[in-house]
Amino acid sequence: MPELQKIRHWIGGEYTDPASGEWLDVYEPATGKVYAQLASGNAEDVERAVQKAQEAFPGWSTMPAVERSRVLYRLSELIDERLEDLARTESIDNGKPLALARSVDIPRARDNFRFFATGLLHFASESHNAPGAYVNYTLRQPLGVVGCISPWNLPLYLFTWKIAPALAMGNCVVAKPSEVTPHTAALLGELADQAGFPPGVLNIVQGTGPGAGSAIVAHPAVKAISFTGGTATGAAIAAQAAPMFKKLSLELGGKNPNLVFADCDFDEALETSVRSSFANQGQICLCGSRIYVERSIYNRFRDAFVEKVRALRQGDPLTEGTQQGAVVSEPHYRKILAAIETAKAEGGTVLCGGAPAPQSGRCTEGWFIQPTVIEGLPAECRTNQEEIFGPVVTLQPFDTEEESLGYANSVRYGLASTIWTRDLQRAHRLAERIEAGIVWINCWLLRDLRTPFGGMKDSGVGREGGWEAMRFFTEPRNICLKY
Ligand code: NDP
Repeated sequence: MPELQKIRHWIGGEYTDPASGEWLDVYEPATGKVYAQLASGNAEDVERAVQKAQEAFPGWSTMPAVERSRVLYRLSELIDERLEDLARTESIDNGKPLALARSVDIPRARDNFRFFATGLLHFASESHNAPGAYVNYTLRQPLGVVGCISPWNLPLYLFTWKIAPALAMGNCVVAKPSEVTPHTAALLGELADQAGFPPGVLNIVQGTGPGAGSAIVAHPAVKAISFTGGTATGAAIAAQAAPMFKKLSLELGGKNPNLVFADCDFDEALETSVRSSFANQGQICLCGSRIYVERSIYNRFRDAFVEKVRALRQGDPLTEGTQQGAVVSEPHYRKILAAIETAKAEGGTVLCGGAPAPQSGRCTEGWFIQPTVIEGLPAECRTNQEEIFGPVVTLQPFDTEEESLGYANSVRYGLASTIWTRDLQRAHRLAERIEAGIVWINCWLLRDLRTPFGGMKDSGVGREGGWEAMRFFTEPRNICLKY
């Protein structure tokens, strides 16, 4: 058998083997087969990465802003030049349709660097004065070495969403992608080198959460942790980091409501709700997994929705035209199928899907699940309370605006929400009371990178995006001068 491709750490400007000498299997979800070996990082690798980052920090943090901007911008151009290759790699690594990686994931990774490369040129700090008495001015200085830890669902997209603002503000980074989807992050090392990043400014330690992730959080020289992932992992990271008084940004799970009122633009609500339910096999933290529909249009919406979901083309993610690929891993596949069984046991009626979706050819052993729509479940059952993070949504009718709000807010999460109505007064009334960090009215996933991004309740702490992210990666120092 030919030797499998090796995915190594990127530390100090070069690809390096793991200190432990141990390698992990990386699977292609569409085939269920191992296709690469991943460096299994540990505290020793993290120590080396932090040292390299500390060495690079004085030069990087004092580099003129225009120079830093130029390097970040060049990286965005290089991502663009490699778009097709990166999209293919992402699709193989994650199971998502190639078309999605090509139109969303990789362009967004490019735009993350482009956005913060230009943003840093306009970043200003505050000054407050009392005329004739004193002036305060605030320095916003880079923190030093920071840690960025990201999940598997939008691998390069979310990895770069953290790294770009951290680097833009003059920090050096030790980052870890998910062990399940490490490949595009590894390629970023080589592109960063070509873009002109000095060695050590960006370090990528591969490996598991407990092995490499936890060592990044524990390292005393790592001043801040920007984390996106599950709520339980976020809580563990917070418990580890809090006694060291690290800055923390936690973007965690969601169980997002999608409220559809009778006066909505029916076709648009329908079309977008199919997307917001099943894009990336439902594995986007912003997907609307609980759809509440006003009773007078419930049956019409349900029937049309199920018809459209049944028509989604599922298959090999690398085949053009595929709309539904594989879910990311075997454990996740089993978890989603178990959640569907729970929904049935709770009395839910499966309107479509509800089972594996066996494929042929090279995908025979891949992890495919039919897009699943369930109705007849109360708001408080497990299916409607716990994050499934797969191609599973529930439908429920409601009678009044107040009732819909109660359903929307009935979970411990508060990440995103969608409201479909032509009544803008109602939309606004609901938008200011829904417990969610992001409210979309008559749209979904329309993202402006300047806006604050993040959740309330158990969906996290802090906000990413725009100035929020840039400020997070700085230490404010206020200086008061009396005159
Ligand atoms: P996990 O929480 O399992 O993992 C996220 C990252 O943290 C991975 O890189 C993981 O490593 C690492 N990790 C795990 N344990 C630790 C630890 N003790 N210390 C440090 N790092 C650790 O999430 P998933 O990867 O399963 O991602 C899915 C979750 O992410 C869902 O809950 C989803 O809602 C959430 N999410 C939230 C978003 C948001 O913006 N709010 C956006 C996207 C997803 P490894 O996997 O290699 O073990």
